[in-house]
Amino acid sequence: MEKSRTLVFFGAHPDDESFGPGSTLAKYALSGVKVYVVCSTGGEAGTVTPEHMKGFASVGELRAKELDCAAKALGLTGLIKLGYRDSNMRGTPDNKRPDCLAMAPIDEVAGRMVKIMREIKPDVVITHDPSADYGHPDHVATHAAAVKAFHAAGDPKQYPSAGPAFQPGKLYFGVRPRGSWRLMVKLMPLFGQDPHHAGRNKDIDMTKMVGIEYPIHAIVRLPKQAIEVRYRAAACHASQGGGRGPMRGPFMIIRLMEKLRGPRDYFMRAWPPPTGKRREKDLFQGLPQ
Ligand SMILES: [Zn+2]
Repeated sequence: MEKSRTLVFFGAHPDDESFGPGSTLAKYALSGVKVYVVCSTGGEAGTVTPEHMKGFASVGELRAKELDCAAKALGLTGLIKLGYRDSNMRGTPDNKRPDCLAMAPIDEVAGRMVKIMREIKPDVVITHDPSADYGHPDHVATHAAAVKAFHAAGDPKQYPSAGPAFQPGKLYFGVRPRGSWRLMVKLMPLFGQDPHHAGRNKDIDMTKMVGIEYPIHAIVRLPKQAIEVRYRAAACHASQGGGRGPMRGPFMIIRLMEKLRGPRDYFMRAWPPPTGKRREKDLFQGLPQ
């Protein structure tokens, strides 16, 4: 019998799993892979309109519920919330709170991730790209800790209290082809969007992302069903604009981009170091059975 495969995505906020590699997570879950999401923060600093707050005491409570909904939609085997507070952007008061992820020592965060890797034994680990997408401190911290944890998990001398060593096989960063960013930055003003202050929380400078290019080592083709599941998961994050609803705002542009680049997710392989020019089509490619 074929060994069952395990994949884990380390994301910073509730919604990163669905707005990011959600279709890939859904595709693998649909094919019987055990898929886990580890979410570093509660997304407490997200902007939420009062209509979404009905029935919730706090933004954190609302976003936890939205994440649970997305986990169910994606067919996850497990969802793990690390429980750090959202660090918001640099220069905001949230960013200096002692309970936020940006203030947590990287060794502590990585140690918790090592423990998870040793428990769930993933074949493949995915996290944010090295620029941490748009410089959000939580993306930066999640990326750094996940990379550290990936390389430490197999070493019994590191984090000995986090369980017996286990080395995951492959590490990927979710990336977007630069051409699609360029086009998006050009298109945004046509839809009344400022590329310097994009996103629901107006904290994404898309023009910065255009200057960074990551190599693409794997292109995962996405079946229709996986894309549909991803939309359902994104719709769970209604407070962050994930609903299908009227086609407006930044999500209209993201959807337009999706149409243009086709049903594919793009990944940079961080480990093992890539060799040759052939792009992988499957994140589990080359792993021992
Ligand atoms: Zn995020």
